[in-house]
Amino acid sequence: MKNGFFSVPRPINEPVLKYKKNSPERREVLETYTTFYKSNIEVPLYIGDKKIVTKKRAKIVPPHDHKHTLGSFSIANASHVTQAIDSALAASLNWENTSFEHRAAVFLKAAELIAGTYRARINASTMLGQSKNIFQAEIDAACEFADFLRFNVAFASDIYSKQPIQGDGVINRLEYRPLEGFIYAVTPFNFTAIAGNLCAAPALMGNVVVWKPSDHQMFSAKIIMDIFEEAGVPPGVINLISGDPAMISNIILDHPQLAGLHFTGSTQVFKHLWQQIGNKLTHYRNYPRIVGETGGKDFIFTHHSADIQTAVTAITRGGYEFQGQKCSAASRIYLPASISDKIIAGVVNNIKSFSIGSPDDMNNFITAVIHENSFDRLVRYIEQAKNDKEVEVLAGGIYDKSKGYFIHPTLLKTTNPHYTTMETELFGPVVTVYVYEDNEWESTLKLVNTTSEYGLTGAIISQDRHFIEHASEMLRHAAGNFYINDKPSGAVVGQQPFGGSRASGTNDKAGSSLNLLRWVSPRLIKETLVPATDYRYPCMN
Ligand code: NAD
Repeated sequence: MKNGFFSVPRPINEPVLKYKKNSPERREVLETYTTFYKSNIEVPLYIGDKKIVTKKRAKIVPPHDHKHTLGSFSIANASHVTQAIDSALAASLNWENTSFEHRAAVFLKAAELIAGTYRARINASTMLGQSKNIFQAEIDAACEFADFLRFNVAFASDIYSKQPIQGDGVINRLEYRPLEGFIYAVTPFNFTAIAGNLCAAPALMGNVVVWKPSDHQMFSAKIIMDIFEEAGVPPGVINLISGDPAMISNIILDHPQLAGLHFTGSTQVFKHLWQQIGNKLTHYRNYPRIVGETGGKDFIFTHHSADIQTAVTAITRGGYEFQGQKCSAASRIYLPASISDKIIAGVVNNIKSFSIGSPDDMNNFITAVIHENSFDRLVRYIEQAKNDKEVEVLAGGIYDKSKGYFIHPTLLKTTNPHYTTMETELFGPVVTVYVYEDNEWESTLKLVNTTSEYGLTGAIISQDRHFIEHASEMLRHAAGNFYINDKPSGAVVGQQPFGGSRASGTNDKAGSSLNLLRWVSPRLIKETLVPATDYRYPCMN
């Protein structure tokens, strides 16, 4: 900042486009989808100003059409990983000295590109590579990503404006320095916006980043890098490395200048990475900041005062949108006996009405699950459920991977509230219902609170204000995002900052200033205007 205290645009959430028949946005995204489908996408490593296409590459395939190849991505070797760290560190001094309004302008421009000229590309790549239908792609890749970038600029500006009080003859300044070193961003397949934000949030605060995306998000990862480049993120500030996660992590976590880990993915991988960092603690120049948002076993608890249709819709959308592959997806449902049949009938009816198939058919509510491992794992749970006496399959239970990894949305009912599908994160379109006696709602809430190791999202459905207040208290630690009369998914940046505790993560709330605070290391500067010239205090002679 040179001569002015600049303000930043007041963010508003990016409007979700409708993609109705004959709309220009629908035409454009479908044309882009078709062009991408026929082209051969090459995703290089992005190291400094170099784009490196390696000899060893892995295929990118649409999960709903896995015999078709979309292109390939490069597999890094150990030397590439070291080069990426070196490039980040080489870029760090210039970047941290770039004033905030210029760093902000870069990411605000990226948001404009996402919402504008890149909208069809980022949506189509997400539809193809991650098998999202257009609505799911739009709310994630276009809207949530643009929101993250715009809101973070406003949050960062608020953070910078928070200053200490001034003393007598003293000026106090708080400078929000970036961390010393580089940030390692490790991202999941399921949200393009999360992938982009895990790099962009630390970079906005002046940090440099080495990013390892999921193998199953590589197509939209390339579009993200194209956008960052066009928006003016300088070379080396965000470097992309793909390939063997264990090899990459071993090198990165071994580096003395690791300043932070920004992770979203499964609990198991996060715990492993944290442990690796712990084992190397004496080796680092700073204590690395560790931010991780991980798994969930998210619940909907329905009270006998609930509006039936509200419960039916919350379970249907919360459980099955994007094939249940949201960390916030509802997968354990508690229903009171008096209305359980009606709610189950409504959900089963909805499931029967779902159309299933490729995302380029915009009628499809359900598309494929992400990869064969996920498909096979889900099939194992479904087959197990068919054989277990304490479980009944109420809908779905069928699957087919001949063309794409399609699992029909499945609804299970169990008499055992600790049945495996009530406790384990399956990450697919499999929802389990447990029916309790109406008057046992309080003991059932205790069960909800203690059944799973996670604490990510949850919802209660009720029209009884006393119940709502009581249940909100009893479930205070059961979910970091708690919903009343709604599905437990679909958090919007700026409105519902997202994250959970227990085994679900460090709860640093993506899409809020709390997350950005993890990427700064404040320096206090005290300037004394008229310095003391005598060491003695007035009380002394
Ligand atoms: P994942 O844990 O399999 O992969 C996440 C990332 O970790 C990927 O980049 C992967 O390559 C990397 N990875 C895997 N093994 C590794 C290793 N040994 N060392 C270093 N890195 C490794 O998760 P996923 O399947 O991509 O995503 C689904 C998971 O993410 C679910 O558990 C879901 O709940 C969670 N998730 C959580 C949130 C949240 O905000 N809480 C959001 C999205 C997804």
